[in-house]
Amino acid sequence: MGKKKNRPLPQSLGLPRTGMDAHAHLDAAEFDEDLDEVLVRARESGLAGVATVFLGPDPYLAGVSRFARHKDVVFLMGLHPEDAGTVKFEDIPRMEQLFRKDARLRALGEIGLDYYWDATLKDRQQQLFREQLELARHLELPVAIHSRDAEEDTLAILLDMGFHDYPLQWHCFGQSRDLALELLSHGWHLSIPGTVTYKKNIRLMEAVRAIPLDRMFVETDCPYLAADPYRGKRNEPALVVFTAQKIAEIKDLPVEEVWTACGKNALRFFGVESEGKDRGHCEDMV
Ligand SMILES: [Zn+2]
Repeated sequence: MGKKKNRPLPQSLGLPRTGMDAHAHLDAAEFDEDLDEVLVRARESGLAGVATVFLGPDPYLAGVSRFARHKDVVFLMGLHPEDAGTVKFEDIPRMEQLFRKDARLRALGEIGLDYYWDATLKDRQQQLFREQLELARHLELPVAIHSRDAEEDTLAILLDMGFHDYPLQWHCFGQSRDLALELLSHGWHLSIPGTVTYKKNIRLMEAVRAIPLDRMFVETDCPYLAADPYRGKRNEPALVVFTAQKIAEIKDLPVEEVWTACGKNALRFFGVESEGKDRGHCEDMV
């Protein structure tokens, strides 16, 4: 409180441009003023890609043009379970059309179940989740899962619908080692957020110790949940380097190794070109 923190800049880790923020909300109002600077800072800090989420067709149509120049940003689109009360199911066929039109839309997400705020909408959430899983399979696209206080039902639906061994990102993984092992057994990827850097989060640190690097992504979920030493500040893609740094510490590995491994997994998952033409070219710099 009131004490000034000396925060290292994300660029100061000197990471190669091989990493990726596997889940961001760059269309949030928090980025209205300085999106271009935010993305320059991301590249300077070692990011070769960012996956940003649009929570349905209307946010997509409102926000997509802001990324026209930023070819290293790819998109997810999905109807969030927290919106189940107000969501229009007609938005699902609208999304299908948009997915077919825009090749930068790479995954359905975030979709899933969230019983944290309002468990009264369980049936509607489950229906919304199932219909979007169906769409993902129909389009042959990966899915990004949001699950809070609903792990059991989320798993049951995924398995019931045949998503074992389907390309799947469990977004913002923050649960136990046991759940991590269960998700890994289905062939899925676990995406680790900045909360792993919070001192008291021993449970997640233990889970991270058990997750092999080739099944891990790092993500910000920005603008919230900034990693230490930026906890409480606005989060942004560049700060994902501190999540990789913490994972490296937990696993007793060089940070470059964690960075590049998680980056490679996510770049491949989202189909981002990480080598060659996207790399170090002035055209995607501002
Ligand atoms: Zn999110």
